[in-house]
Amino acid sequence: MAEYNRPTSEEEFKENFKQKKPLMNPTEAYYESSRCLFCYDAPCIQACPTGIDIPLFIKQIQTQNTEGAAKTIFDSNWLGNACGVVCPTGVLCEGACVYNHQDVPPIQIGRLQNYATATTIATNKRLFAPGNSIGKKVAVIGSGPAGIACACELRTLGVEVDIFEAKDKPSGLTVYGIAPYKITNEEVLSEITYLQEQLEFNIKYNAAINSKTQLGELESDYDAIFLGVGLGKTASLGLDGENKEGVVGAVEFIEELRMKHHKITVPDNVVVIGGGNTAMDAASEAARMGAKKVILAYRRDKQSMGAYRFEYDLAISAGVESLFNATPLKIVGDKNATGVQFERVKSQNGDLTPIPDSDFIVPCDLVIKATGQAKQKHFYEMVEGLKIDKKTRILVNDQYQTSNPKYFAGGDAVNGGAEVVNAAYEGKMAAQGIVSWLGS
Ligand code: SF4
Repeated sequence: MAEYNRPTSEEEFKENFKQKKPLMNPTEAYYESSRCLFCYDAPCIQACPTGIDIPLFIKQIQTQNTEGAAKTIFDSNWLGNACGVVCPTGVLCEGACVYNHQDVPPIQIGRLQNYATATTIATNKRLFAPGNSIGKKVAVIGSGPAGIACACELRTLGVEVDIFEAKDKPSGLTVYGIAPYKITNEEVLSEITYLQEQLEFNIKYNAAINSKTQLGELESDYDAIFLGVGLGKTASLGLDGENKEGVVGAVEFIEELRMKHHKITVPDNVVVIGGGNTAMDAASEAARMGAKKVILAYRRDKQSMGAYRFEYDLAISAGVESLFNATPLKIVGDKNATGVQFERVKSQNGDLTPIPDSDFIVPCDLVIKATGQAKQKHFYEMVEGLKIDKKTRILVNDQYQTSNPKYFAGGDAVNGGAEVVNAAYEGKMAAQGIVSWLGS
């Protein structure tokens, strides 16, 4: 189990947040690519949400055609580099690799993907160009993975694209919401710059669209609008004391950490509430920032957590402790949070039953709520005729077109919160849907 000192410089921060999947060197990539069996009907392709021709790009790496490999990857997934690093490959492509049946480590597909794309981005090799103009313009709201993928695909299909981004950087949660030991800001941004230079889509920063009037203007200025708005801030728990100082949302905590690195101070005692991947990220990050005690509290048992097992193991290996079958009742303290009051629960047929007189307080100076993000309901209400489901997800047809035909949507706003690779796929498919609708 690792113990981390509080980082006081960028070097120390980088040491504590060393990437889990570092870039391969050419020898490693050659050796690893040589292990691939280039399976017919390869199960790794079936397991990739974007259907990348994995044996083909591995063959291209093995034959020293690194740029060809990058082209194969980007042709299926515009966020090919980011996905090579942040995808849960163990449950996707690598989890499906035939080597798993033989007790042999699977091919490191993610790292090979990262090798091909990062090498090509670093040399700035031009692989793409905008398609011949079809005389149409599309507004994309949000520059997260769905928005960027949609913009890239639209440009190859000859459509003008303006992206409207509320923040001052692109990429949505890929920069703001993913743990820094998975991918650095520089790596995320270099992929987007690489694509933007070749495909020439515009990104307007600090350009939040948050009124009906603005939407009306977009509707008259553009032929279609793509909503890649993602999710909102961390949802409220409705707990007594939730508004005290020292209670933060996991998404906001991770965002601040990613932007300020060692310049933020995480206190000694931290409680993270939640059992999903974001909770694991937040807990790992608090430990890597030098907190002495980080407790991950989840109301059900370990097996019921939504997080991938490897994410949980990563948090534990960073020194995080876990507390299961405990429901938070309130945040205690005066102005500042000084602890969380829990009660023990037992699970019967999926229902949680409190155990009488089992209350206890876990002292802490920081509470991180990692219990999901709020949906952008207020925004959806501004779009005329936009239908959402019971979980406040935008409803789309198989072309990713919403109930208002001028609007298409993809990514977390549609799937409720999934992986970067899912958003990249949906953005690409929506672009094809838009072009097919514009041409009809
Ligand atoms: Fe190569 Fe494994 Fe895919 Fe087969 S399943 S093509 S061995 S990566």
